[in-house]
Amino acid sequence: MNERHGCISIDCDTISDYLVAYQIHPFSQKGDQTLDPVYAKGIPRFLDLFAELNIKATFFVVGRDLTNKSHLKIIRRIVEEGHEIANHTLNHRPDFLELSSAQKEKEIMCTDRMARELLGVKMVGFRGPGYEVDAETLRILRENGYLYDCSVFPSFLFPLIKMAVWLKSREKGKAKRFLSLLKRFGPWAMAPRLPYRPALDKVWQRADHNGHHRNEDNANKEILEIPITVLPILNLPFYGTFLLVAGKGYSWFSLSLVKKMTRILCFEYHAVDLVHLQENEVDPRLTVHPGLTIPLENKRSFIRDCLSQMQGRFQLLTGENLAKRYLHNTDLSHRSLL
Ligand SMILES: [Zn+2]
Repeated sequence: MNERHGCISIDCDTISDYLVAYQIHPFSQKGDQTLDPVYAKGIPRFLDLFAELNIKATFFVVGRDLTNKSHLKIIRRIVEEGHEIANHTLNHRPDFLELSSAQKEKEIMCTDRMARELLGVKMVGFRGPGYEVDAETLRILRENGYLYDCSVFPSFLFPLIKMAVWLKSREKGKAKRFLSLLKRFGPWAMAPRLPYRPALDKVWQRADHNGHHRNEDNANKEILEIPITVLPILNLPFYGTFLLVAGKGYSWFSLSLVKKMTRILCFEYHAVDLVHLQENEVDPRLTVHPGLTIPLENKRSFIRDCLSQMQGRFQLLTGENLAKRYLHNTDLSHRSLL
């Protein structure tokens, strides 16, 4: 029996979200009813691949898309095909961590409420926009029945990856921005590589097993941090878009290392990974986004191959099922598991 578990997740960020991330468009809370190429093509293509390979995955959905009728139809298909939908905030705000506690709660709980009302689904998983999460966000999640967060990216390259987006953007004051990214996300390189119960004040630190976080009052409010998988020993990034652009050599090397050494896999794609810039009529200014001009068939067969390799090594579950399996597993506090 395959004893190693893993989860595949898809971030459903739309082309509009990327235009904001690269500062091509200013952020706006206004939703519209146009069908975004990520929903028209990217998500259905991933759903077809998962059906073909018999994989159940987790889709991180931005709440605003639940108010778009065409997008809601695709989200219904995700649920009907047995996948999990999880919370990726209401508006995918680039300044999420700067918001007040009440605003953060609104960003999370509006999406939560819409998923319940429109789809009858109680979301239990969260990923911050741009992987951004803090202790306050985890508190809100704990208090609202969430089982896991899946935002921590424990690689020393993480601030640089975030900086790469800003270097391509039109933002001024880049040096200042880099220093703040380094200060905020630098310590994440020290986060555990396997799912852990985070401390109440630092998301990248494991809670003290004997501390207040484990007492009776909090026992049903525990949350599991499922960090994004990075390469064992080297701590280099290992996620869908990165593999697409890093080339076959890096991909096969990293896949074989992960298959050999990683105990619990948390692998992330973005639905835009199966969108093509020209073929799917994406705003040409998004040529700055990695992988968008790689021929679609090359991307699809490469992703199919990666998925089946991971499926051969790990029993793939949704984030929810992975969290349920490990949340109350006391072995997680044992260093031997790491
Ligand atoms: Zn996102």
